[in-house]
Amino acid sequence: MFDGRISSSPTISCRRCGHELVPGRGELFAVSVVAVADPYPPVFDERDLAQDVGAEIRRLVAQLNGLDEQQARDQVYRRVVFHLCTACYEDWIEEPASH
Ligand SMILES: [Zn+2]
Repeated sequence: MFDGRISSSPTISCRRCGHELVPGRGELFAVSVVAVADPYPPVFDERDLAQDVGAEIRRLVAQLNGLDEQQARDQVYRRVVFHLCTACYEDWIEEPASH
């Protein structure tokens, strides 16, 4: 599995078309994607406020206890770095969410 680090190996390939890329020749893009789980303040409605907050907190704590530290972090923040050849980059950057 891709581990998110920029490879120091001289052979890397385009994530989209698999084309082999040689670093330093200006023929590739290193793309860094950062995803953050909803960074906005939570919105509560009256139904939420009517709930037993203590029970909800206990439920969430139990859920988090079932995850290891890495899994818990992955649920709120992911950073992925990958390489694209110039042709794939030019297609991809126009509609990054479509692939
Ligand atoms: Zn490509």
